[in-house]
Amino acid sequence: MIEIKDLHKSYKMGSSELHVLKGINFNIKEGELVAIMGSSGSGKSTLLNILGILDEADSGLYTLDKVPIKKLNETIASKYRNQFLGFVFQSFNLINYKSALDNVALPLYYQGVKRKERNDIAMKYLEKVGLSSHSHHLPNELSGGQKQRVAIARALASNPKVLLADEPTGALDTVTSYEVMELIQGINDEGKTILIVTHEPDIAAMCKRNVVLKDGVIIDDKMVEQVRASSYV
Ligand code: ADP
Ligand code: MG
Repeated sequence: MIEIKDLHKSYKMGSSELHVLKGINFNIKEGELVAIMGSSGSGKSTLLNILGILDEADSGLYTLDKVPIKKLNETIASKYRNQFLGFVFQSFNLINYKSALDNVALPLYYQGVKRKERNDIAMKYLEKVGLSSHSHHLPNELSGGQKQRVAIARALASNPKVLLADEPTGALDTVTSYEVMELIQGINDEGKTILIVTHEPDIAAMCKRNVVLKDGVIIDDKMVEQVRASSYV
């Protein structure tokens, strides 16, 4: 599903340059649940942003579902993002003046799906994350865990090939984190390919594979015995 080869990325700041990714290689198959780990500043978000076509590597190869991702103009980049990818962020990134249902339906609006159909689809995904009874709530009427569930429903609404989550439990307490991970594991059980960036070892243990970034390279990449979040919640 994802192939990356010798990916490099630097940030230029005035006359100096920060070389963040120094030759990253890995492949991710359909149906994997991968944690990308590493300390703060190790380049996890930089890598995820490149995989999410929100940013571009300086060099190297990136292939997403057999499509080479290279030098795209914003129209094509945005088309590929809509077609292939769903995003979940630490800070939820919901629109505060829109209901849970409207937040979930928004990506479908941008894809030109008609109102009735997009509301039906949004409701189906709200049900999937256990929040159909909260469809008319505004984000500030939801708990942190509920907000993240809405964000996950929104990310799934366009049925992406890959779900990318940057510290999805970073703003949540321990129990709520496990509940969100239980949901993510269930979505992966149904076959969705998922990449999670996390610096929390117990969250990474709930994935099937752990990739560790340090000083711009991968220092470890292994399959792990998946801990079920349901054993904690
Ligand atoms: P992580 O997500 O692992 O904490 P990041 O990928 O966010 O790490 O950042 C890696 C390094 O790149 C850090 O030193 C950070 O300060 C720097 N960095 C990230 N984004 C930018 C940017 N847009 N411009 C300049 N430096 C950046
Ligand atoms: Mg980060």
